[in-house]
Amino acid sequence: MSTLEIRDLHVSVETENGTKEILRGVTLTIRSGETHAIMGPNGSGKSTLAYSVAGHPKYTVTSGSVTLDGEDVLAMSVDERARAGLFLAMQYPVEVPGVTVSNFLRTAKTAVEGEAPKLRTWVKEVREAMGNLRMDPAFAERNVNEGFSGGEKKRHEILQMELLRPKFAVLDETDSGLDVDALRVVSEGVNRATESTGAGVLLITHYTRILRYIQPDFVHVFVDGRIAEEGGRELADRLEAEGYDRFLTETAGA
Ligand code: ADP
Ligand code: MG
Ligand code: MG
Repeated sequence: MSTLEIRDLHVSVETENGTKEILRGVTLTIRSGETHAIMGPNGSGKSTLAYSVAGHPKYTVTSGSVTLDGEDVLAMSVDERARAGLFLAMQYPVEVPGVTVSNFLRTAKTAVEGEAPKLRTWVKEVREAMGNLRMDPAFAERNVNEGFSGGEKKRHEILQMELLRPKFAVLDETDSGLDVDALRVVSEGVNRATESTGAGVLLITHYTRILRYIQPDFVHVFVDGRIAEEGGRELADRLEAEGYDRFLTETAGA
């Protein structure tokens, strides 16, 4: 049983117009096996939260803490975070020219485990995981994210999650740009990964649609850099019916 604890996290970025505070005190605890949905309007800081936990250099933590089983995550390099069991599926996955999916996955697995995976079992594992995600085997020889469609990028992110077996996965809008079939395939991949490893998931999304396939234990409404309301699944149903207007109005009036 592991715990990822985010406490009163404040994060800023440098912009042309000076320092801008984006996260304004985020507190959230995720335990193994739990799925937490973070839902919020565009620009509310959801990706900033994901990047801050993953260690993106652009985002400066000005106060607060992130710990994994009591260990200071913010003191770790990006690689150390991955080795500690943190995984981020990015909203906009980046191209890695000249590196094939196959090499990328093996390098990532080696970095996370501290030793290279045994070739024969690894090849089998990759093939199986790709089959589960309905990915053509030829995909393994393409360069990472180069010319991938939106759906292929998202499948590749979840393929990594399945193979790297993180303790905690942050999935940033893994549902965006997916048609209903791809959404089901990707969601099944997430569910398979969490069921087999007991991972905790922070599922960031703008829409409630993915929550029909991946059932959250907790729902957090994210507005203007902080959590505005928390609840169970029923909160997602309310958001589907009412949208975010209620929260935005409250923010504007504050
Ligand atoms: P969300 O993922 O909820 O749509 P983001 O975290 O991407 O929100 O962005 C939150 C706010 O912070 C937005 O106003 C965005 O323009 C701003 N922001 C995020 N990253 C940067 C950055 N690197 N430089 C400047 N502004 C940023
Ligand atoms: Mg956005
Ligand atoms: Mg985002």
